[in-house]
Amino acid sequence: MRIVFVGPPGAGKGTQAQRLKDYLGIVHLSTGDMLREAHQAGTDLGREAASYFQVGKLVPDKVVVGVVAERLSKADCADGCLFDGFPRTVAQAESLDAMLANQGMPLDLVVAIEIPHEEVYQRLASRGRPDDNVATVQQRLGQFHALTEPLAEYYERRGILRRVDGTGSPEQVFERIKRVIELTKQPSN
Ligand code: ADP
Repeated sequence: MRIVFVGPPGAGKGTQAQRLKDYLGIVHLSTGDMLREAHQAGTDLGREAASYFQVGKLVPDKVVVGVVAERLSKADCADGCLFDGFPRTVAQAESLDAMLANQGMPLDLVVAIEIPHEEVYQRLASRGRPDDNVATVQQRLGQFHALTEPLAEYYERRGILRRVDGTGSPEQVFERIKRVIELTKQPSN
């Protein structure tokens, strides 16, 4: 299966993606992790990406799409892939469509993990990543509204969007996601 996780910062995409990749035995592709790794490795791309993510802005589509395309071309992605935090703009979604079409791999499911805004601040305050301070989180939420939320409609029109309530314990959220996955695997149920 090829699955996309979309949701505001702090929605639990990373936590749920870890669980789901083990459950389904597919590759987990987190653009946030990949960009932070590139930054730690000190590459030019990493430096460029950091100048955006450190202030809560989305990294330019071209940069992110390049990183994803390279990763997607590796053999381990052939059997399935879980995209965590990508696409985040309609342009990225269009690029992903093109990449997948090229390789004859359809996208099966987009899971939108939804949480109220108040909860975003509470959750990120306790996580403590360098880009989790109030000003940056505000900026990231603004970017989410302006650029990422329109993706829901993009995928809804295609009939592959499923909304999942992201509140409650990680176990509860994972149960909801598993239900959606099973329904996608067996649409008759
Ligand atoms: P969160 O979901 O909590 O914002 P991520 O690790 O997914 O955390 O992303 C961290 C940062 O990395 C984002 O704020 C953004 O700057 C950058 N980033 C990650 N994925 C993308 C993407 N697909 N497009 C643009 N920027 C991205």
